[in-house]
Amino acid sequence: MRRKLLVGNWKMNKLNSEAKEFAIASVPFAALAKKNNIDIGVCPTYLSLATVKEFASKDMIVGAQNCHFKESGAFTGEISIPMLKELGIDWCLIGHSERRTYDNETNEKCNLKIKALIANDMVPLYCVGETLAEFEAGDTKKVVGAQVREGLADLTSEQVKDLVVAYEPVWSIGTGKNASSQIAQDICSFIRETLRDMFGDVADGIRILYGGSVKPVNVKEYLSCPDVDGALVGGASLKIDSFEELVRNIL
Ligand code: PEP
Repeated sequence: MRRKLLVGNWKMNKLNSEAKEFAIASVPFAALAKKNNIDIGVCPTYLSLATVKEFASKDMIVGAQNCHFKESGAFTGEISIPMLKELGIDWCLIGHSERRTYDNETNEKCNLKIKALIANDMVPLYCVGETLAEFEAGDTKKVVGAQVREGLADLTSEQVKDLVVAYEPVWSIGTGKNASSQIAQDICSFIRETLRDMFGDVADGIRILYGGSVKPVNVKEYLSCPDVDGALVGGASLKIDSFEELVRNIL
């Protein structure tokens, strides 16, 4: 039985003071989520990770939005996995489409980061998804299949069992243009079959999220799809009321 999972990606939003306010306000509904067997989490900027970790409920997953695959060295502007671990951070987004688009995050680079996270007992939340041009060309499965196979290359079934994958069609992120729940189900099911081909039955326990303009009004529809285990949410995770409504709507 896969537990439902709702993760907010704050991107480059919120001052540290605002992150603290959110963390404090989220404590009661983190307890509600736990009581209902739902995992919830947020991915603040690096600068707010320690604050959110300190003030949010211990039941709130706190994840980074990126990391470097090397432990240390001459990589100006980067943050390493040991730096995250020292703050108690044990989740990290990898391969978000904005990083793929603006920061040359390739499947190969994602693979290095995922391997480094797993070697450090951290949970990678690996994002995959096609662009609008790829969707319109009918290449969704080709693109997503390659992202899954290359991003998760050289890993064992034991290593991937706690990993989470998020299917986020690029054309639906921050655009208000949702993929239908049918598309979300089809591609999440395709991802699960790809995982099964690579890792065997462990694929049945791997959580797969949908992301792309998820709002309180549509979250339930996505989560009612058999292969959609939760949501990765950008815009609607920024306001405490809307995040709480997302949680309440999937109880
Ligand atoms: C995201 O950033 O991963 C995302 C899905 O954003 P939004 O919910 O705003 O489309």
